[in-house]
Amino acid sequence: MTYARGVSAPVDLIAQLFAGEGLRNYLGEEVSIATHMLQAGALAERSGAADHLVAAALLHDVGHFEAIGQRQTDGQQLEPIDYRHQDTGADWLAQWFPGEVTEAVRLHVMAKRYLCGVEPGYLGRLSPASLHTLGLQGGPLTRPQAEAFEQLPHARAAVTVRRWDEAAKDPAMATPPFDHFRPLLSRIAR
Ligand code: FE
Repeated sequence: MTYARGVSAPVDLIAQLFAGEGLRNYLGEEVSIATHMLQAGALAERSGAADHLVAAALLHDVGHFEAIGQRQTDGQQLEPIDYRHQDTGADWLAQWFPGEVTEAVRLHVMAKRYLCGVEPGYLGRLSPASLHTLGLQGGPLTRPQAEAFEQLPHARAAVTVRRWDEAAKDPAMATPPFDHFRPLLSRIAR
């Protein structure tokens, strides 16, 4: 995609998406897409995670933005099909970010399916919208699928991001502004 006038760097472009489309409802969740991702980034940062994990948490759902992909709904309803936003997002981010970021983003949906398959009680903690998309995405992984997933590079990072993802749908949580994360993103974007 081309930059809007005056937008010269990836971090500015991402900021613009958060401030625009990001304010929409997040597909049946109680927070906007921007708030959701900012909360995920904040949870990662608070846990002392490395920069690339904070970035992956902060950016994991950019594939939901219409400006960078296909799609979609008006933001008010559940996804009717699986748009594979994890691939859209990872491919787009790969223009500027290393694999430690993009592959955690790409695998964050598989990580949900993994956790639902291997961790008792995880499925019961999913939001209704996430439970809905779990079905579209193929449901919990079987044991052989889970074992194969564990062998993938970045699987562990994706699982870590996924746990923040689940926790980042809290309308009562204080959410840092996007600018808070600019220095970190600028450090790792190329
Ligand atoms: Fe998410």
